[in-house]
Amino acid sequence: MTSFCINYNTCPLINDPGFLQVKEKTDYYVETFCKGGKENWSICKRYLMKLRWNFCPDFVLPDTPDTTDEILDKFEEE
Ligand code: SF4
Repeated sequence: MTSFCINYNTCPLINDPGFLQVKEKTDYYVETFCKGGKENWSICKRYLMKLRWNFCPDFVLPDTPDTTDEILDKFEEE
């Protein structure tokens, strides 16, 4: 089983230090999703956006409740 997300080396949530303002929140996402085993990173909404549309808007978080279609709609409305 792969424990780290396959996007770990490129995802802005991991690699951009200013991506999330609250460090505790970043730590929670990293431990719960990014390093949480495939059963967890494979349900991350950022991962699912990349898989479905090959990009992910910055406003999307691992536990964003919207579907990938709804996120795309919001992105296009911006
Ligand atoms: S935020 Fe999601 S897509 Fe980015 S590294 Fe973590 S699990 Fe992967």
